[in-house]
Amino acid sequence: MCKQTQLLNIPPGGGRLNLQLLRPPRQTEKVVVVMGATGTGKSKLSIDLATRFSGEIVNSDKIQVYEGLDIVTNKITEAEQRGVPHHLLGTINPNSNFMAANFTKSASNAIKSISSRKKLPIIVGGSNSYIEALIESENYECCFLWMDISIPVLDSFVSDRVDRMVMAGMVEEVRNIFDFTSDYSRGIKTAIGVPEFDRYFRMEAFLGEESRANLLREVIDEIKSNTRKLARRQLEKIDRLRNVKEWNLHRLDATDVFRKQGREADAAWERLVAGPSFGIVSRFLWN
Ligand code: ATP
Repeated sequence: MCKQTQLLNIPPGGGRLNLQLLRPPRQTEKVVVVMGATGTGKSKLSIDLATRFSGEIVNSDKIQVYEGLDIVTNKITEAEQRGVPHHLLGTINPNSNFMAANFTKSASNAIKSISSRKKLPIIVGGSNSYIEALIESENYECCFLWMDISIPVLDSFVSDRVDRMVMAGMVEEVRNIFDFTSDYSRGIKTAIGVPEFDRYFRMEAFLGEESRANLLREVIDEIKSNTRKLARRQLEKIDRLRNVKEWNLHRLDATDVFRKQGREADAAWERLVAGPSFGIVSRFLWN
């Protein structure tokens, strides 16, 4: 006879009483979800939140889950992570085809593990179909934070970011995974910045210096344009989640942060993003 049965004076065998009903109801896990288009500052906010609320990050960018191409996919660096543990970031075989169902399973395991250690799970990434699949298949209590920036400011930021990626070694990084039979339909090779370079790597050996430089410029422009299109598609998906699915997203408008530089930008970040989001998450956790 188990101890609990003796204490409750229940006949041997438990009678018809369902002991499950006597257990306290399983608490739903609280999760913070940081959403937004590419380039809006989701990673920075997630680290601010994690350091403030003792959190761990679960990456929900469908390309950053794969190992490799750290420059092209704009993965957060170790220094930027500031010691905050990250899950599902660069852990998946780059040639496999990781899908929303795989994400849901891995992310929910990570959330369980984080919550069991009394830490706050913070889901961060731009892949809205992954976030939607995870949230709709699990019973979480969610606090959604939406990083938003006006489109013209975002356009110019992501274009400059592609230039910085090139300076940081993007061309060599993509060349290292290039082969002449390339299949761009699965895994990390679907990333913006990989298929665009295909024609350059095929032709560069046959071109003179000037033609090669012109072609490189064309490829870089195409990557910028595809990144701007991605940002618009991501925004459309966020709009649908707000207006059709009626998700309660807390919008943080970071446009002014991106218009400023240095200390002024830091102050605008505190005023427009970090401060308000700390208030929202505090109320979510403690009210
Ligand atoms: P969908 O509903 O189409 O699956 P989604 O919102 O789940 O879209 P997105 O994150 O918008 O997914 O990614 C769509 C595509 O954008 C990817 O397949 C990839 O080509 C590109 N992409 C997304 N994130 C990155 C990234 N970090 N680096 C490079 N390319 C990316």
